[in-house]
Amino acid sequence: MRRKLVAGNWKMNGNLAANSTLLNELVAALGTSAACDVAVCAPAPYLSQCQQQLAGSVVAWGAQDLSAHESGAYTGEVAGAMLADFGCKYVIVGHSERRAYHAESNALVAQKTLQALHSGLVPIVCVGETLAQREAGQTEQIVGEQLGAVLVLLEPAQLKRIVVAYEPVWAIGTGKTATPQMAQDVHASLRGLLAARDADAAATTAILYGGSMKPDNARELMAMPDIDGGLIGGAALKSADFLAIINAAS
Ligand code: PEP
Repeated sequence: MRRKLVAGNWKMNGNLAANSTLLNELVAALGTSAACDVAVCAPAPYLSQCQQQLAGSVVAWGAQDLSAHESGAYTGEVAGAMLADFGCKYVIVGHSERRAYHAESNALVAQKTLQALHSGLVPIVCVGETLAQREAGQTEQIVGEQLGAVLVLLEPAQLKRIVVAYEPVWAIGTGKTATPQMAQDVHASLRGLLAARDADAAATTAILYGGSMKPDNARELMAMPDIDGGLIGGAALKSADFLAIINAAS
């Protein structure tokens, strides 16, 4: 039985005051135990705030990106070890907004995944097709290439330390959600790719769905056998919505 994970992706939103309120509300509502794993992925400047407010709580924290390099002359980049210094457990890699606006290739996403693992972080590896790719019947091929580029670099022990997130690009921030069956079909094919490398990893790896997951659709999505939680954008910015999704995972 895989434990579900609900992770918020705040994207480039928030400020000290608003984050403080949101984090306090989450900690107060969840208390000392949550029926699923919970995390927030904050903009890098607020990771220290997450560490201060979340340490000792059931809410883990993480970043939204990291450098493919370990350290050195890479102005503006943030190394995995720096994220680990601030207590991050997770880091999102290959989010479609990074792929689209920063031209991140499958190969770069794979390098970032390796760096995350070397830094002791759990990478949340995002894959997903555009609307045009879905309409052309290329969904499985595209997500297979995206995940395949990562899997080929990983040792068996590393395979067991990643989280995968299926995020159809056409569903992110659009209010359009994949139906539970559409998502389940892709999740099953991603799990098949994991199984081709390592059956144990396939059985234990969490595959999250992301793309306009909200309180009113979260329960039926997460009831599907291969959907192990959610990566939540917009709905992670309001504690009531995020808590309702966490509740739906339980
Ligand atoms: C995301 O950005 O990872 C995401 C899933 O966003 P939203 O929930 O807003 O669609």
